[in-house]
Amino acid sequence: MKKWTNWMLAGILLLSLAAQTACSSAASTPVENGKKTIVVTYSILGSLVQELVGDQANVIVSMPNGQDPHEWEPSAKDIETLTHADMIVQNGLGLEGGMEKALAQAETAGVKFFTASDHITIRTVGTGEGIPSGDPDQAIGAQDPHLWTDPLTMKQVVDALSVSLKDDLGLDVSANAAQLDQKLDDLNNEISAEVESLPAERRVLVTGHESLGYFAQRYNFKLVGAIIPSLTSDAEASASDMSTLAAQIEASQVPAVFTELGTPANVAQTIGQETGAKVIELTTHALPEGGDYFAFERDLAQTIVDGLK
Ligand SMILES: [Zn+2]
Repeated sequence: MKKWTNWMLAGILLLSLAAQTACSSAASTPVENGKKTIVVTYSILGSLVQELVGDQANVIVSMPNGQDPHEWEPSAKDIETLTHADMIVQNGLGLEGGMEKALAQAETAGVKFFTASDHITIRTVGTGEGIPSGDPDQAIGAQDPHLWTDPLTMKQVVDALSVSLKDDLGLDVSANAAQLDQKLDDLNNEISAEVESLPAERRVLVTGHESLGYFAQRYNFKLVGAIIPSLTSDAEASASDMSTLAAQIEASQVPAVFTELGTPANVAQTIGQETGAKVIELTTHALPEGGDYFAFERDLAQTIVDGLK
């Protein structure tokens, strides 16, 4: 009886938290230096684009780092920056949900687009992953937008963008692309070796929402479930979902639950108390302070491995 009451409370909390809104933006104004301007929608992708482009063009990131990309909406000034860009680099697969109107406006204005997910092997939700919740974003076959959690998928993005920059903007970044490819290969080898220290039965992931699919696929982790059983943080979970998730955590003996931006903290705490799993904060949608893509991915892998040991 006590258990059921806890889930009811968790459900009420989820509902009250769902009304959260994102605010403020800080996209900088394009510099007048005669160079082309490339606007990237979010910071993690922006970090790689900046490294690829070097000083050959101005690179602006639209969403302030740390905002939830599933929910962030651009201001009038951000929309102006987008519509005046020479190229917009976006993730696609619905990640930039709050930017859709602004991106369509930029497309109408004739801005060239590069969509990262058009150039990768797209991961789809498989059987037995997570909680069957009726959410279309969690249905089997739904396309996963979280492509940045796998370095080798980002290599596909870098290679394709290098070609687009040449074809569409006349920029030759092939030397930088070759260097980045090497660094991404090295990063992948480093993480593979680190993950080796975890026995197979401990490679089990429960996250705030279904955000680590590409990472799990690359490094042989099992996706047990998520607090918000969806590919976006912009969704809700029910008390019965929580009860199902707790049972799955116990059945798979999951040592830790990873919370993210947009995860209702009190619901995560309740799950931790009910199941005995540790609750660990994980940065999945933002760069570490002062860090680049490589620092992001290393932190991600390190926190996961340490948490599950
Ligand atoms: Zn996400």
